[in-house]
Amino acid sequence: MKSAAPDRLRLKLVVRGAVQGVGFRPFIFRLATELKLAGWVNNSPQGVFIDVEGPLTALEKFLLRLETEKPPRSFIQSLESSWLDPVGYTGFEIRESETGGGKTALVLPDIATCPDCLREIFDPKNRRYHYPFTNCTNCGPRFSIIESLPYDRANTSMKSFTMCPQCQAEYDNPRDRRFHAQPNACPACGPRLELWDRSRAGKSTGDSRSDERGYNALLAAAAAVRKGKIVAVKGLGGFQLMVDARNDRAVRLLRKRKQREEKPFALMFPSLESVKAECEVSPLEERLLHSPESPIVLLRKIANRKSQIVNSAAPGNPYLGAMLPYTPLHHLLLAELGFPVVATSGNLSDEPICTDEIEALERLGGIADFFLVHNRPIVRHVDDSIVRVMLVREMVLRRARGYAPLPILLNSQLSTLNSQPVLAVGAHLKNTVALSVGPQVFISQHIGDLETEPAHNAFRRVTADFQKLYEVKPQIIAADLHPDYLSTKYAKEMKGRAGSPPPAVGAIGTSLLSEATARQASRPTKHIGVQHHIAHVLSCMAENEIAPPALGVSWDGTGYGLDGTIWGGEFFLVTDKTIERIAHLHPFSLPGGEKAVKEPRRTALGLLYEIFGDGCFKHKKLATLRAFSTMELATLKTMLAKQLNSPVTTSMGRLFDAVASLVNLRQKIRFEGQAAMELEFALDGIETDECYALSLVTRHASLVLDWSPMIEAILSDVKDGVCAGLISAKFHNALVEAIVAVARRVGEARVVLSGGCFQNRYLTGRVVTRLREEKFKPYWHQRVPPNDGGIALGQVVAAGRAKL
Ligand SMILES: [Zn+2]
Ligand SMILES: [Zn+2]
Repeated sequence: MKSAAPDRLRLKLVVRGAVQGVGFRPFIFRLATELKLAGWVNNSPQGVFIDVEGPLTALEKFLLRLETEKPPRSFIQSLESSWLDPVGYTGFEIRESETGGGKTALVLPDIATCPDCLREIFDPKNRRYHYPFTNCTNCGPRFSIIESLPYDRANTSMKSFTMCPQCQAEYDNPRDRRFHAQPNACPACGPRLELWDRSRAGKSTGDSRSDERGYNALLAAAAAVRKGKIVAVKGLGGFQLMVDARNDRAVRLLRKRKQREEKPFALMFPSLESVKAECEVSPLEERLLHSPESPIVLLRKIANRKSQIVNSAAPGNPYLGAMLPYTPLHHLLLAELGFPVVATSGNLSDEPICTDEIEALERLGGIADFFLVHNRPIVRHVDDSIVRVMLVREMVLRRARGYAPLPILLNSQLSTLNSQPVLAVGAHLKNTVALSVGPQVFISQHIGDLETEPAHNAFRRVTADFQKLYEVKPQIIAADLHPDYLSTKYAKEMKGRAGSPPPAVGAIGTSLLSEATARQASRPTKHIGVQHHIAHVLSCMAENEIAPPALGVSWDGTGYGLDGTIWGGEFFLVTDKTIERIAHLHPFSLPGGEKAVKEPRRTALGLLYEIFGDGCFKHKKLATLRAFSTMELATLKTMLAKQLNSPVTTSMGRLFDAVASLVNLRQKIRFEGQAAMELEFALDGIETDECYALSLVTRHASLVLDWSPMIEAILSDVKDGVCAGLISAKFHNALVEAIVAVARRVGEARVVLSGGCFQNRYLTGRVVTRLREEKFKPYWHQRVPPNDGGIALGQVVAAGRAKL
């Protein structure tokens, strides 16, 4: 298929760093006019804003050249880009600087080591040679060390370190690169490394004579990694667990101890060249790897090349999560090692990342053999961010280091936020929270799945932290509709403490809100329940700055529906005033409820039962049925017949699971999304427009996507021995055509794609192409995750639309 990308696009950039007063705006003017781009540039307290439009290729050139040709004295600490609809600019102008408006103090994210600092730590003649805490005004820790605003050393975790005369002189000199560099430090006065043995765990943590100190600690840690040991490294925003990525035994041991069976591990490479030896790297991917954000980038492995990375690092996965060193500590360690390491979050399975060395001994004592620690406290946990390139744009899948807590600016056409600040507490999995201050929405760093006690604590900590940091008392608290989510309970608790009964959460399609009316100045006075999939759509509309009307496609694993069933394959018509569920997947049962989420074979059985009733148990040769014992099948038969513990769902994620089971790719999963991922991987290399039939029928004034003809065709293909890859491709293509069919029926030009399913590269890529062919305008996520990490933003938008 040919991609029918629009002729003209708009690129919005927010550039932060040393970009003011260094000739940056004239440079942008020259570059834009040379490339014949229209638009404007200005300065504001939030950074330099650039809005340019023109042909895609010219805009891509603009973005790359902006970084490579920028004025010598400028330095970019953060570059956020969004691709948006053109607005019809003619000519390019430098606009008046914005000075007015509430100057919300901006907390910068942590910034990867700059080239100048990098040169210093590898220069034997420099006083910061081999010093792992080197930084300057252009780079280093920010968000992870700030205790309160304003951003002064006394308000950071560097406050206990007194600068030596040399560092102080740099700090005081306006011409020095370290002028007012708050975390400024050197070997004489700053934080120091130590290497601890796991035998310290449980003992008193006083000085131990056997501990290595300073650079020797780093060398000893490197030696341990080389010997196949697991080393917990206290990094920028938390601990990472490192092992030699070439050592299968070591990687497997880490999996066993961390209780992480198959979920891919992230890798840190010593250099870009070493990444390129393993993976295909596009110019945009290269830029991301090297960017001030330095996220984990999902890169395609080079096929049919012998890899030094063991398969157990990312079993059966055609992609690797790769990153480059982003602190001096990582640079020094990786330079010493010279080979890629697994660098995964320092936690037990899905708990939040560990930040404190004493806590780490306790929590990670059973995992790591050694602890490379230091005495600069981490104020708040910040995981490594994860991005992938989707349709030649960046798509953030986990928003944390480098991105959090930069704000998203809300478009007033979408959400008429009154001046009341909103706190949104997000969803249950991949939780983030968000706080709105006027049109700015600050989204927290990734918190994680709220399943464990440490995760609950992290959630409460971050929620309190954001209110304290921005000195905002939210008047409105927005939460999911699911009554059992910890975040929902927390929201009601906060509200409850304000002296009113918890509001009844029962929303209706048109207003989607429930509210209570108590008023008290210091507590949130309103509680708003926002339907999960509606939040997804609003989140995507917000970051793409589009106004209603639009068709929202919200596909994911699980979310509490307005009718009390589990939703996940939903279409909404969003207008100025209403949001209507306009189409959905035909419902089916999940025998065993939660268990079915872990076992695609159960979901597949639920699906078959919906078509064939008891007759489904006659398909004895089918992999799905063979995956159960006779006794299990008897129990499931009763469950389904009597609808015992078999909740009804319209979830697209579960439909993926079921198909993965039918073609025998996966009967039980080890981590969330595994079956769907493997179904996507299976079609790798297959190019076909073949497609199953998914029928669109009208039932009770709603459009329903009936998957039964597709499932019957899949059964027939399985019987005929058609390979899983081709079946997967025909399945994906069917879903794409289903979106196109609904879009045609609804007739709205704008189609918004949100929910975890759109992390799937094939699905998103193909649906965007097909929608464009049919003259629709598709939108997908860029800087905010399509998964539940983006829910909090959507909840804020919903609160802004509510009549309060
Ligand atoms: Zn620097
Ligand atoms: Zn010093």
